[in-house]
Amino acid sequence: LNASDYRRVTPGIVDELRRICGTEFVFSDGDKKLKKYARDKVPEAYGHMPEVAILPKTAREISRVVKLANREKIPITPRAAGSGLSGGAVPVYGGILLSVERMNDIVEVDAQNLMAVVEPGVVTNRLDEVLQPHGLFFAGYPLSEEICFIGGNVAENAGGGRAVKYGVTGRYIQGLEIVAPTGEIIQLGGKRVKDVTGYNLVQLMIGSEGTLGIFTKIFIKLLPRPTVRQAILVLFEDPETAIAVVPEVMTAGRLVPTSIEFMDGFSFCMTARALKERFPYEKIGAALLFEVDGTHLSVVAENAASIRRICRERGALEEYLAETDREIERFWRIRKQIPWDILRYTSHQSVEDIVVPIGSIPQALSKLKQIGEKYGVDIPVLGHAGDGNLHAIPLKSSASTVAQWEEILPSLLRDIYAMTAELGGTISGEHGIGHKRRDYMSLVMSQAHLDMMRKIKRALDPNNILNPGKIFSWI
Ligand SMILES: Cc1cc2nc3c(=O)[nH]c(=O)nc-3n(C[C@H](O)[C@H](O)[C@H](O)COP(=O)(O)OP(=O)(O)OC[C@H]3O[C@@H](n4cnc5c(N)ncnc54)[C@H](O)[C@@H]3O)c2cc1C
Repeated sequence: LNASDYRRVTPGIVDELRRICGTEFVFSDGDKKLKKYARDKVPEAYGHMPEVAILPKTAREISRVVKLANREKIPITPRAAGSGLSGGAVPVYGGILLSVERMNDIVEVDAQNLMAVVEPGVVTNRLDEVLQPHGLFFAGYPLSEEICFIGGNVAENAGGGRAVKYGVTGRYIQGLEIVAPTGEIIQLGGKRVKDVTGYNLVQLMIGSEGTLGIFTKIFIKLLPRPTVRQAILVLFEDPETAIAVVPEVMTAGRLVPTSIEFMDGFSFCMTARALKERFPYEKIGAALLFEVDGTHLSVVAENAASIRRICRERGALEEYLAETDREIERFWRIRKQIPWDILRYTSHQSVEDIVVPIGSIPQALSKLKQIGEKYGVDIPVLGHAGDGNLHAIPLKSSASTVAQWEEILPSLLRDIYAMTAELGGTISGEHGIGHKRRDYMSLVMSQAHLDMMRKIKRALDPNNILNPGKIFSWI
């Protein structure tokens, strides 16, 4: 498919959208506000302008818009906070950009049922703040939590900093109210912890990147809030020694930490220096950040001590313990700030999201180094080492031109993805495919597998109006 397979948004359609959503919540051609909706956090080259952006407030409004889009054959791209790193919210065929930013109510915190019901435009971190006084906890923790929305987290099945112990977003989604691609409002699941009544369509929707339904309400399973946390920042001379420690903590240490984050020397030193932290920079080749949590101080402290002991015995340079929230956040700040510093470092980069079995991380690191040498680019690596999810970020070298960078990028990415597949990994662990990785899917999936997904998409969205051009090609 291409843009010419869709109808254009005419002034008459804009009027209809204004009647549905309200004049002030529809931005059409020529409106300066439209530009904001042309891309997420992917580089500019992946962006595309919508013809119109709308900010509906209710599921009923969305349902009317979706029915209109089917009637007219106009694509709709849902958007949450636009912090995505695969172009999922980019309206690649123009059409209608549907932002859920006004749908930001926390509808209910149901402590008795350990459940929260929220609209998709709630900022992830805000939910956590609201749950705190209830002694409750949403385990999802994407490191963009200060800006991303729950709706985007569900659509990408976001992972993040606590996935080692708690798993990813999808584990906590018990129900969804959706507007189907044909416009019906349907509730899937709900507050029930167990439910085998028919196909598990809730899980089908999770990670569907806005291609199978628009979420309008989300039922989130909560946990009792841990009362004690400790973090350990450990510095190493080289990445190999650091990574070798990761499985040891779980096997020799017999514990599953809440978090195990890896930062290579380049990333860690760049950001820690910028934050004016004092470390022995000249010796640092890598860093690990561990967190442990629970409800008994003695157990948490024992776990932290065990991690420190294992790191010391296996060649760590230095380790630092943080016992208060303030100290813990200081360590996390370094980790969270790195992607932003890299995005600022050059606009010609590619934030990758490969995931390999954790035992294969050492091979992945050494192959990434070889690929960097082959193309003459630096590839800093950081990520969620405890679940094998590595953010390798090729950067344009200052010696090459933008044209040269753009020429090598497709084969550089292909080499990274092929290497990942060889190690039993895949091309995205948490950022999704979007249109950025769409054309590489056959490296990690058989034709029959891709066809099965296409059949699902065609059955639910016969006019292919919901976020077309994402994940896989229509034909
Ligand atoms: C600095 C930084 C750190 C990050 N760290 C992490 C991390 O640790 N873990 C992680 O997983 N990701 C991380 N990300 C990526 C990103 O924040 C996540 O993918 C996040 O889940 C996207 O949420 P969003 O609200 O920005 O969604 P958007 O980018 O707006 O949209 C993402 C996808 O969701 C779809 N969508 C949006 N709303 C709906 C809806 N209501 N119904 C159906 N589909 C919808 C869109 O069409 C799109 O395909 C990071 C990004 C940055 C910039």
